[in-house]
This record gives sequence, C-alpha cells and structure tokens, in this order.
Amino acid sequence: MSTNPVQKGKSKPAPIATCSTVNRRTNSEFVPVWALDIDSEGLLQASDRARCGGTALLGTTPVPPNPQKGAEKSGSKGFDFNERPVVAIWETTQACDLACVHCRASAQPARDPGELSSDEAKYLIDQIAEMNIPVFVLTGGDPLKRPDIYELVNYAAAKPKLNVCLTPSATPLLTEDAVRKLHDSGLHRLAISLDGASEEVHDSFRGIPGAFEHTLKTIQWANDAGQQIQVNTSITRRNIGQIDEIAALLEKFKISLWSVFFLVPTGRGQIEDLPNAREFEEAFAKLYAISRRVRFHIKTTEAQHYRRFVLQRKFEESCAEIRRSQGGSRDESPALTPHHLRTGLTPARPGVNDGKGFIFISHTGEVYPSGFFPLRAGHVRRQSLEHIYRDSSLLRALRDPERLKGKCKVCEYRDLCGGSRARAYALTGDPFAPDPCCDYMPPEAAGA
Ligand code: SF4
Repeated sequence: MSTNPVQKGKSKPAPIATCSTVNRRTNSEFVPVWALDIDSEGLLQASDRARCGGTALLGTTPVPPNPQKGAEKSGSKGFDFNERPVVAIWETTQACDLACVHCRASAQPARDPGELSSDEAKYLIDQIAEMNIPVFVLTGGDPLKRPDIYELVNYAAAKPKLNVCLTPSATPLLTEDAVRKLHDSGLHRLAISLDGASEEVHDSFRGIPGAFEHTLKTIQWANDAGQQIQVNTSITRRNIGQIDEIAALLEKFKISLWSVFFLVPTGRGQIEDLPNAREFEEAFAKLYAISRRVRFHIKTTEAQHYRRFVLQRKFEESCAEIRRSQGGSRDESPALTPHHLRTGLTPARPGVNDGKGFIFISHTGEVYPSGFFPLRAGHVRRQSLEHIYRDSSLLRALRDPERLKGKCKVCEYRDLCGGSRARAYALTGDPFAPDPCCDYMPPEAAGA
C-alpha cells in the first residue's frame, strides 16, 4: 500500500440532460447521446455503451454484441474532472526498437537510467488506485523493454477498480508467449498500433520492415488468448486516404476499440503531415459512417471536435426522424429551430481533454496534461499525483473553459470539445488558442 494515502474527493451526481426534443421521444431504445462520454480517451466509452445495452448512440442502429467486450471493473462513473482524471497514462520507458516517423516520445533503443524504478512505479500505481482512476495505460516507448513490466501489470491489475492497458511495440519482444503472459498477469486490454492497410504504408510509418505482418499476428494472438485488444491508428496526411481500408482490415478480427489519433506536431511528428481542418472533417465523416456499421467501438484522440461532429450528425438524424414520425415539416416542429440545433446539444458533462480527465506521467516522473503537451505540471518524485492533478495552475487553467480563446471560447460545444489544447499549443504556442484543425464556426463567433 501507499505510504501516502490520498484523501478522496466527494463525487457529485451527474447533471440531468434537458432537451425538449429528447423528452418528446418515447422509443425505449433511445439513448441520449449527451448521457454518454462519447470520447473519453480509453475504456470508458466501451463500458458506457455496454451499460446502454450495446446500442448505437441514438438507438437507431443496433450493434451486435462484441465477444471481445468484457465487463469493466466498476468505478468509472460520477466524475468531477477537477478531482480526478478518467485516464492516467504512464510512459514506462522511452526505449523502443522501432523508429516511427510520428513518434511523440522521440523514442530510441536504450533505456534512460532516470526512469522510475520498480518501487517508484508501484507507489505511482498505489496513488492512481487510491484516486479511483478507472483506466491506467502503460505506454512507451515500448513497455516490453522494461524487465519488470509483467510484475507491474500484475501489481496494477490486483487493484480492485483499475483497468490496466498496455501498448507494446511490434518488435521481436512481442511474441505469442508475451501476449499470453500479459493476459495471465491480469491485463485488461492490449493496444497495438496499425497505421496503414498495407505493408507499404504501415512499415514506412514504423521504420522497420515486417512491422505490419507482426501487428496483424499480434491481433490474432490476442484473439486466440482471449485477450481484449484495441488498435491505435495515427492519422496523418500519409494515411488519411486509407481510413476505410484500415477499418475493413480490422473487421476481420475481434477488436474492442479502434482508437484513432490525429497528429499533433510534437516529438517526431511533422507539421507537413498534419491534415487541414477540411480534411479532419472528411475523416470524421468516414469514421462516423464506419461506426454505424462495425462491431467495434471507435474513439478519437486529439480530435475532440469529433464529438461535436457526432453530436451534430446525431441531432440532425434525430430531428429528421421526429419530422418523419410527425409527418410534418421543419416549420411545423417548434423543437427544431436553429436555437435548439445549437443549444439543445449542451452535454450533461464535459468531455475529456488534455489535463481535464486525463493525465500523463513521463518515464522520469514528470507530469503533463497529455503525452502531446510538453508543458510540465509537476513531478511525482516530489509531489503526490493527486496534488499535481488538482492544484497545478496549468491543469486548473486547462480545465477552465473561460480561459479558452477565439471561437473555442464562444462555441456551444466547448464543454464537450474545447479543441485540442495540445495542437493549439504546438501550432500557436498558446495552449488556450482555438484548435487550428477545426472547421466549425460557432454562430456567436461568426456574428450570427
Ligand atoms: S470551435 Fe473549438 S470548441 Fe467548437 S467544435 Fe471547434 S474545436 Fe471544438
């Protein structure tokens, strides 16, 4: 147990959504979209949807049960993001035998002697468990470069409310035996990267021939072992045209979640590879269409405005359905005014963002709002994680929507979205600037 027990904060009841259009619908399949945390940077989305009976967000397209989707440990509800995050990610090491072109960590083969020790890592895990953070991700670099990784997975998995995930690299360290050993250690979910639908595209991302084949083998090994698996894809200009093909490839396997990262030009990520706002929107349309068809869940990372896109689409569909059922036109339906289209979408609770429901601990113990956000909030060798998360002036500012600037400040989606703070910082040097990759213009910003 931790020698520095953390005083837990009081959980607050989730606010109740109010929307006249929602209330008018009596369909028992109805699932109010803003009751779901539709992009919560990890497993919460899967568990929320499981609780909603495995239906699509508005209940119009049933999704078949996914045998990969296991029950989450309890404890992921009742969040106040000022008190604790939903997800804590620990960069176990920066060592990795791959040399990916977009690597956030600028990883290299050798381990840093300054990495957190096994005991320090266990103390960190104790704090994460005591804060009642439901999702703990061990990332890298390549976590398998640490000889104590199985012991640490085992240690974390023994915590009663912690869902432990791990993101290994597709190198010779990742074998079928390793997958089984991780599974036997209590790993909740394995996450593997796939950045292209072909060997040519994926291997050029990863910098190692054979990485594509190794990744597909790993997914199959996980399926054979009964290990939940998530696939991570980093979208850049190099592969944005392959979204449909990658989804089609994933459909051949049993995966729990497709986590789609959108480039933040940091580490080895290059600004030339960053899609523009219009290309983001086109990618969202593809992801949304795919999400209506496939059995796995889809979430985005550093594309918080995908939530806005989904909400807009869901609301349009809901309105169209209501109009159809009423046999009337838009003019005859007072609930479907532009005012409702804008403000009737207010989410019940805020969406996860950098430093808001999310925290990242580096291999040497520095704490950041996310792995793509290089402003330091504290250091776990000197302060408790709870103190850093709750009291860091940087993190408090990032959780304050009034600090946003430009169109994000006046946007009706700002609590749910808020734009990528990491990308705003990477591109403008101002963490509160509008996300330069969002195509939406809020009516207030447009002077409507
Ligand atoms: S304007 Fe900002 S807050 Fe609104 S959807 Fe775009 S990125 Fe999100």
